[in-house]
Amino acid sequence: MSDAVLTLSAIKRGYREGPARVEVLKGADLSINRGEMVALVAPSGAGKSTLLHVAGLLEKPDAGDVHIEGKLLGDIDEAGRTALRRSTIGFIYQFHHLLPEFTALENVVMPQLIRGFSKREAEVRGRELLGVLGLEPRLNHRPAELSGGEQQRVAIARALANGPALLLADEPTGNLDPKTSDTVFSALSALVRGAGVGALVATHNLELAGRMDRRVTIVDGLVVPL
Ligand code: ADP
Repeated sequence: MSDAVLTLSAIKRGYREGPARVEVLKGADLSINRGEMVALVAPSGAGKSTLLHVAGLLEKPDAGDVHIEGKLLGDIDEAGRTALRRSTIGFIYQFHHLLPEFTALENVVMPQLIRGFSKREAEVRGRELLGVLGLEPRLNHRPAELSGGEQQRVAIARALANGPALLLADEPTGNLDPKTSDTVFSALSALVRGAGVGALVATHNLELAGRMDRRVTIVDGLVVPL
């Protein structure tokens, strides 16, 4: 059995822009293995978000195949895709998107309840993840009472709460100062490697990209090594 958690094969995706059509991905291939962190470094407009959306089952490609843990997505209906997304994929965005009226712990518990875990199980897992991220003293704080770095660590815990096979991150430290960014990235990378998650991390930060296992970019609609 292949170790790949994500395989994108010959992915094409374009958008209509007025009368014209812009082809963003023109047959892109990318495979990510368990425990592997891959940096996606490309200029704005190259297609990073499009690639992350296709990999995250948020957008369907116009052509090509997406496999998640060896399972071909093509034949799965919308409800099946949503279920698969919730159970196997975690997302981290540049801005944390935490629920403001809930505490740090509740924000990490919520996706687990939606997935069907009991409140008790979800809280144990939430405390454990937030503890590993150094947020034990902040469990009952709301996002507004946390620093930017703390908020982003809660977002990391939330993304990993359901034990995803694949983690997709779009500029996860883009909003943080260099020192905080370094701390948050170290925490993320330790958790991802420890759990054997495959991660695709879009970043403009070349120093962080250098700390990942592999770097890729997008040139003329194709994913190529950097
Ligand atoms: P990046 O994340 O690298 O900045 P994107 O994937 O967001 O790039 O966008 C790539 C190109 O596709 C851009 O030219 C953008 O304007 C276009 N694009 C992205 N999403 C849409 C959309 N929903 N509708 C029309 N054009 C889009």
